Amino acid sequence: MSDLSARSHPDIREAVRRLCAGFPGSYWQALDRDRAYPTDFVQTLTREGFLSVLIPEEYGGSGLGLGAAIAVLEEIHRSGCNGGACHAQMYTMGTLLRHGTAEQKARYLPAVASGDLRLQAFGVTEPTSGTDTTRIRTFAKRVGDKFVVNGQKIWISRAEHSDLMVLLVRTTPREQVAKSTDGLSVLLVDMRDAVGKGLTIRPIRTMLNHATTELFFDDLEVPAENLIGQVDKGFKYIIDGMNAERILIASECIGDGRFFIDRASAYARDREVFGRPIGQNQGVQFPIARAHVQVTAAALMVEQAAALFDAGRPCGSEANMAKLLASEASWAAADTCLQTHGGFGFAEEYDIERKFRETRLYQVAPISTNLILSHVATHVLGLPKSF
Ligand SMILES: Cc1cc2nc3c(=O)[nH]c(=O)nc-3n(C[C@H](O)[C@H](O)[C@H](O)COP(=O)(O)OP(=O)(O)OC[C@H]3O[C@@H](n4cnc5c(N)ncnc54)[C@H](O)[C@@H]3O)c2cc1C
Repeated sequence: MSDLSARSHPDIREAVRRLCAGFPGSYWQALDRDRAYPTDFVQTLTREGFLSVLIPEEYGGSGLGLGAAIAVLEEIHRSGCNGGACHAQMYTMGTLLRHGTAEQKARYLPAVASGDLRLQAFGVTEPTSGTDTTRIRTFAKRVGDKFVVNGQKIWISRAEHSDLMVLLVRTTPREQVAKSTDGLSVLLVDMRDAVGKGLTIRPIRTMLNHATTELFFDDLEVPAENLIGQVDKGFKYIIDGMNAERILIASECIGDGRFFIDRASAYARDREVFGRPIGQNQGVQFPIARAHVQVTAAALMVEQAAALFDAGRPCGSEANMAKLLASEASWAAADTCLQTHGGFGFAEEYDIERKFRETRLYQVAPISTNLILSHVATHVLGLPKSF
C-alpha cells in the first residue's frame, strides 16, 4: 500500500517491523491477560538502539530527530505491538538533555542509552488537580542539601519498571507566586533509592495493560543535585517534553490506525458472506476507506509537528492538533475494524479488541481532547478564556 510513511526513514521502519515480527499477537495477549510488563520486548528495543534514537551520539544514542522517533513508534503500533511500555524514555530524556547540567547529562544519558538505567516514569498528574497542572500539591521543601518531598501522584505509568523518574513538584506555594506556572520545579528521582524510603508505589488495574500506578511521597529525600534546571522554573522545562510526548503518542495513534485499516482491509477481502467478499459491499468498504483518509491526513499533521520540533521552532499548537487528529483517526479506524470483523472482532485471538482498548486511551491521555480544543480556541483563535 502506498502511503506517506513509506517515504520517511524506510530503513528504520523496516528494521522495527522485523523486530516486531518476533513479538506476535500471542505474546501481547498473554501479557494483557496478566497485566504483565513486556520486559523482553522493551529489552530488545533497547538493545537494538531504537529507544535512544533521540539521545545525541556523544552520549551513546543515535542523535536523530523526532522524525525518526515517530517512525519507530508508528511501526511498533502498526505491527500490533505497543510502545506505551517504553515510549516515555524518548520524551522525558529531552528534559534532562535540554535543561540538565553537563554533569547530570554525563552521569545519566549514556546509561539510559545503553539500557543500564531505565528512565520511563514521568510524574505530573495528581488526583485533586487533574489537568490543572499548576494546582499540583506535591511539595518539595529544601532542607540543607536535600529536597524533602510529600504528596501524591496518580496514573504514573511504568513506575515499577523504571530506575529514574522525572517528577514535577511545587517548591513555592501557588499563592506566593506572581504567575501560577512559577514555583514549580523538576526533580530527577532515583526510584531505586526511594522505594520503601518515602516512596510507595501502588499499581492500578485499568482496561488496558499499561503498568500505571499511584505514588505516595512521605518525607522522601531527594539530593538537591537532582534538581533539573533552576528551582521554581520547572514548568517550562516540562512543556518542551510535553510537546514531544504529544507528537510521539500521535505517531502511535497513526500506527494503530494503520494496523486497524490493514486488518480490516484484509478481513473484508477474505471473509465471504452471501456468496461474496464482505468488502465488495460499499457499506463495508467506505468506512475503511474513510478511516484511511482520516489517518493519512492526521499523519501529515504529525509529520509537520515533528518537523517544527526538530527545527527548534514553536510547535505547541501543532503538537496538540496532531494528537487530537491522530487519536480521533485511530479511534474511528478501531471502530470500523471491529465492525468489519463482526463477532470475530471480539475474540481475543484477533488482537482487535486489545488494540481497540489500547488506542482509546489517547483521547484522554496525555491530554484530553477538550483541553486541546480549549488551547486551539484561546491560543490560536484568540477566543476568550473559559477558565
Ligand atoms: C492509563 C493512563 C496512563 C497515564 N500515564 C500518565 C503518566 O505516566 N504520567 C502522568 O503524569 N499522567 C499520566 N496519566 C494522566 C493523564 O495525563 C490524565 O488522565 C489526563 O491528562 C486527563 O486528566 P484527568 O484524568 O485528571 O482528567 P480531568 O482533568 O479531571 O478531566 C476530566 C474530563 O473533563 C474534561 N475537562 C476538564 N476541565 C475542562 C474544561 N475546563 N473544559 C472542558 N472540559 C474539561 C477533560 O477533557 C476530561 O475529559 C495517565 C492516565 C491514564 C488513564
